[in-house]
Amino acid sequence: MDKMVEKKRGRLTLVATPIGNLGDVSARQTEVLQQADLVAAEDTRHSGLLLAHLGVKKPMLSYYQHNEEKREGELLARLAEGQDIALVSDAGTPGICDPGSAILRAAVAEGFEVDAVPGPCAMIQALVLSGLSTERFAFEGFLPRGKAQGEFLQKLKLDERTLVFYEAPHRLRESLQVMLAVFGPQRRMAVCRELTKKFQEVQRGTVGELAELWREREPRGEFVLVVAGAEPAEVQGEADMEQVKAHLRRLLDGGMKHKAAARELAAVYNLPVSEVYALGVALKDE
Ligand code: SAM
Repeated sequence: MDKMVEKKRGRLTLVATPIGNLGDVSARQTEVLQQADLVAAEDTRHSGLLLAHLGVKKPMLSYYQHNEEKREGELLARLAEGQDIALVSDAGTPGICDPGSAILRAAVAEGFEVDAVPGPCAMIQALVLSGLSTERFAFEGFLPRGKAQGEFLQKLKLDERTLVFYEAPHRLRESLQVMLAVFGPQRRMAVCRELTKKFQEVQRGTVGELAELWREREPRGEFVLVVAGAEPAEVQGEADMEQVKAHLRRLLDGGMKHKAAARELAAVYNLPVSEVYALGVALKDE
């Protein structure tokens, strides 16, 4: 009796691509693109340039926010025919504020093999470079616009995790002003601009300082905003002096001036500056 020959089913692989520096393409990303039967891309022209740079020649199909649903059936049919599909977005990791997750879910639901080749992601790059805690964080994507923005941030005000947001340049100033109103001037944050590119900048400071800085400067390029989580005392609504002391020690060890640290923590913990300053004096004597 003839053995049943099982028809090969295709595999869908999400492939991360550079967020501005072509040197960040990995050998595995190139290999998967090279071996794919089809490359689905958010913008075929844009990704076509990357493929040409890598010397990869493949049939391409557009897959972007507004044709995701329409394309789903076609991509699943091709997987069923045994084609291996690589999916890329314009920059970074597909599925992170970019198309990719819907088709991955659909492929999983249909029982197809899926994979993802890791690589650049602006959120991770910014989080790591921010100098803020990376232990626990929340990625919030793009902020809603208008009145909803303040309400959205209010809900995050007491979140103790580091918060990461994507922001468009023409909305940066407004968002920093709303952050200033919600988080207050003393909360620490980082504004990360043009990551991995020639003019990369990471500005670390307080929300007050960075909101002020960008009032003066025309925002250009791509931005990620990283905001420190709430201090536990802020969440509890009352200052635990051991907590304040430990926080003060961290700031002083980090090189902050005694007076500036006292002012900052007084605002964070709602204490008189003199009380926090005195804590610092006691710390020096310890
Ligand atoms: N999938 C991408 C990723 O993995 O980071 C994100 C795509 S999302 C449509 C684009 C946003 O990501 C930009 O508006 C900006 O907030 C952020 N972004 C992407 N590349 C960046 C870069 N080189 N520097 C700073 N932010 C960047």
